[in-house]
Amino acid sequence: MFTIDEYTGVRGIYDFKCKGCGKVFELIVAMGTDTVNYLNCCRVGVAEKIYSPPTAGDATMIDNERFSDAMGINPNQLPAFMKQFPGSEYNSEGQLKIKNREHKKLEMRRRGYYD
Ligand SMILES: [Zn+2]
Repeated sequence: MFTIDEYTGVRGIYDFKCKGCGKVFELIVAMGTDTVNYLNCCRVGVAEKIYSPPTAGDATMIDNERFSDAMGINPNQLPAFMKQFPGSEYNSEGQLKIKNREHKKLEMRRRGYYD
């Protein structure tokens, strides 16, 4: 969850892979970050950025409609975000609706993130 103030700064949204179990998730990090301490998954607590282009299977997954936690918000702030990013859709948990990869890039750019 992020407040609207936290949407500033040069950061990107990247896919990271847990070194413990291999689970993949999105994180917002400063550009150039390769490894993060991630304690919300396994005891291993370390995740690495995924550089390799997605395989055909992954691409299918990424192009499916989904909801982004990384660009999610506190639902209480929905009115403020709707004003700042008209057209963006959030679910009741404050996760941002992502229609496909191109749409994700668009929503990232609107928030000042880089691909
Ligand atoms: Zn894990």
